[in-house]
Amino acid sequence: MSARALDGKIALVTGASRGIGRGIAERLAQDGATVAIGYARDHEAATTVLDKIRADGGRAFLVHAPLGGHGDAARLWEAFDRAGREHAPDGRLDILVNNAGIGRSSALAELTEDEFDEVFAVNVRAPFFITQQALPRLRDGGRIINISSGVARIAMPEIIAYNATKGALDNFTLNLAAQLGPRGITANSVRPGIIDTDTNAPWLRGNPEAQARAAALSALGRVGEPADVADIVAFLATPDARWITGQTIDATGGSHL
Ligand code: NAD
Repeated sequence: MSARALDGKIALVTGASRGIGRGIAERLAQDGATVAIGYARDHEAATTVLDKIRADGGRAFLVHAPLGGHGDAARLWEAFDRAGREHAPDGRLDILVNNAGIGRSSALAELTEDEFDEVFAVNVRAPFFITQQALPRLRDGGRIINISSGVARIAMPEIIAYNATKGALDNFTLNLAAQLGPRGITANSVRPGIIDTDTNAPWLRGNPEAQARAAALSALGRVGEPADVADIVAFLATPDARWITGQTIDATGGSHL
């Protein structure tokens, strides 16, 4: 087999049991990386991703890592060390993809403090502390890629707290890029538009009208697929993307147009 862009690299993708995270994990593995598949409750789904990667000749392992509580980042890295003994024996890694996220949130008038805390805990606090604790592990020249959202740069009053988490994540990305540049580590955000994942299934799948409305939001006239995001993440992870840092990259099919 000829050399691949990510041969020899170790990657962690949070929330990789399904959706966009699954797409990213599979794509990074295809490109040669050994992928730690972060997951929370859905062991069966995560095992399916692991089996698929291995069946395709790739390398991966599972990291059980529920996120959102205090101490969860430390537990994630303990799980990474336990599960990765064979693949990443020194506990170091090259690529960190903070993908896990939840979409729950309501309009300001109905928003509760519990709802606010939950969405910030998973979408902001978890990536902050996972990344903080990854810094001694990340090799120089490493990559941090945060999965934000196209909604980060517009007002979405009906999901105001979720909207704000992605703005916070993008600013975190800028700070990481500024701090880690001297180590050759890049940090970028990728902002998906509407992607056909399980999280959108209740309103999108089997509803031609909703699909047509969602497709019309993008200049390319269709709803996105996890691979549309994964391909961009995979490029950012390669050595060819070494001069791109502190960017927020829209993966929305041109929905701003
Ligand atoms: P999804 O719900 O299909 O999958 C989310 C993944 O994160 C799952 O693997 C889930 O197990 C994991 N996860 C959720 N909560 C977790 C927790 N508390 N602890 C650990 N893992 C947890 O979501 P998706 O649509 O694939 O979205 C992935 C990312 O992309 C999220 O950050 C989301 O905000 C972002 N995004 C999605 C869309 C979209 O249209 N699907 C658009 C913009 C941004």
